Amino acid sequence: MKKNTFVIARIIVSFVLLIISIILFDNVINNLVLKGIVFAAIYLLIGYDILLRAIKNILHGRIFDENFLMTLATLGAFIISDYAEAVAVMLFYQIGEYFQDYAVNKSRKSIKELMDIRPDKAVKIDGDKENVLSPEDIKAGDLIVVKPGERIPLDGIILKGSANLDTSALTGESVLRYCEAGEEVLSGSINTDGVLYITVMKEFYDSTVSKILDMVENVSEKKAKAENFITRFAKYYTPIVVIGAILLAVIPSLFDSMWIMWTQRALNFLVVSCPCALVISVPLGFFGGIGCASKEGILFKGSSYLEMIDKADIFVFDKTGTITKGKFEVQKVFPAEKKEYILHLAAIAEKGSLHPIAKSIVEAAGETDINDYEIEEIAGKGIIASNKSNRIVVGNEKLMEKEGISIDICRDIGTVIYVAKNNVQEGYIVVADSLKENSAKVIKALNDKGIKTVMLTGDNADYAKDIADKAGISEYKANLLPVDKVIELEKIMAHKEKQQVVAFVGDGINDAPVLMRADVGISMGKIGSDSAIEASDIVLMKDDLSGILTAKTIASKTQKIVRENIVFALAIKVIILILSAFGFANMWWAVFGDVGVAFLAILNSMRTIKFKKKKSISAS
Ligand code: ADP
Ligand code: MG
Repeated sequence: MKKNTFVIARIIVSFVLLIISIILFDNVINNLVLKGIVFAAIYLLIGYDILLRAIKNILHGRIFDENFLMTLATLGAFIISDYAEAVAVMLFYQIGEYFQDYAVNKSRKSIKELMDIRPDKAVKIDGDKENVLSPEDIKAGDLIVVKPGERIPLDGIILKGSANLDTSALTGESVLRYCEAGEEVLSGSINTDGVLYITVMKEFYDSTVSKILDMVENVSEKKAKAENFITRFAKYYTPIVVIGAILLAVIPSLFDSMWIMWTQRALNFLVVSCPCALVISVPLGFFGGIGCASKEGILFKGSSYLEMIDKADIFVFDKTGTITKGKFEVQKVFPAEKKEYILHLAAIAEKGSLHPIAKSIVEAAGETDINDYEIEEIAGKGIIASNKSNRIVVGNEKLMEKEGISIDICRDIGTVIYVAKNNVQEGYIVVADSLKENSAKVIKALNDKGIKTVMLTGDNADYAKDIADKAGISEYKANLLPVDKVIELEKIMAHKEKQQVVAFVGDGINDAPVLMRADVGISMGKIGSDSAIEASDIVLMKDDLSGILTAKTIASKTQKIVRENIVFALAIKVIILILSAFGFANMWWAVFGDVGVAFLAILNSMRTIKFKKKKSISAS
């Protein structure tokens, strides 16, 4: 605030002094030396910081920055006795810089506000006392209380109480989520009504909020091509213009000896040459797009992924938890007369597993309090539980084959889980999952855009075909282990055309390697799962495939705005450069070409944070 007032005061004082001096020296005082001294003083008042910065940068080996160019141009004007112009240009430049800073700060602030999910306190329960602490000071296992209107500070499980949670800051989902004792809650959600006693499961640095903030704050790592282009461009462009300016000042003058005129034109050259319109507005545009996406529950790990998802033309999907809800229900247990026994056996093995199939079986079996088994989970196949006397094998055909257990194959549509004890099949369980609400619509929208869709699954071929048909996916591959998924994806990537981009969409369970291998890895619906967040480039926090379409829309709009800025800024600059070379544009034009264009480009970039959600697909 203070700094602002100072800058404004300096601009106003310099402006008034400049006007008075112009009037005085044009009409009243006729002393060239005095004129030079007075204008030099005003020049220093308005431009000293630019001069100092230019000198500092030169000492650090960074010659061609805008401070240097402005210094060179205005000092040049001074030397050829355009005193008033030198001061005026510097003044105008400072005004432009002021507005530029203002616009940048304002948009950064609005982006930050979008992502303001950091909790500021946690209330810990110690016996019958409530202690207000910073979330960083809470440990896993501590009991905290969250009252209505407060943000949940750490991930945990509700011990007592129930409430409607507003998870919109995390997921972009506006419908409240009802939670009660025993359920897991994520930090960053807001408790809208009840009082919740929560057992903390993860320390702050490990909680969802920290992870999201980390991700959003570190987006700069993977830069978009446009962003890298601008950095490289600025490095070559400015020296080229400076050399051009020197040539423009010297060569024609050798023929017509009009040194002053050509020097003037060359100085204009220098002023327009600052690439700051691009250097500031392009990253800001991407930053805005990323911020806007995060408000919709879509996290981009870098601006390059905005570019990638915009271009992606092959989408490969995981089945369970991605196209389907990942909520299985037991459909059938065979043989029916041994139902309870089969479920009980299976539940012994599945008890500790996080796989959605396991959850459905454990639920159907009810309480199992047998704990003396050693559990081995085999990704993409199933589970083996063994103790001194028994060995229970629960899983698909592949697992049975591997274990050398002969089975009666079941041809029912659904995921078939065979259950064997001590190498003898006892029966099987058929579980089934259903399509997510928006899966078919999203797949259709992608297909309509000419995007190829493929489904990879570890499930059996019959069920895979059934789901693929329902979702409208033409190509699918079944019976894949997690490694096979990588191999299939690599095949797709090897056969694509060079410019094609392959996206993989998964739920993060068993598919981290594929997420990493794809050009763009998109994980969804499992914000709690660490490996998914780490392995993917884009995270859809809402468990809804339509996030893909939203991400694509935001990405393509952001790209469009960035391109507009690049074309607009370069076009104006080239025009002014040509006009100055031929003497049609003076230094005022040049300053507009620099500061004015930067300001307009920044305003344009700010549009990226204000995309209206286009409800092409709504979960009605
Ligand atoms: P998807 O490719 O459909 O996401 P997964 O790779 O997670 O599925 O699992 C593939 C298959 O492996 C499942 O369809 C199931 O037959 C078997 N499987 C995996 N985990 C388990 C488990 N915990 N219990 C039983 N079967 C399992
Ligand atoms: Mg899966």
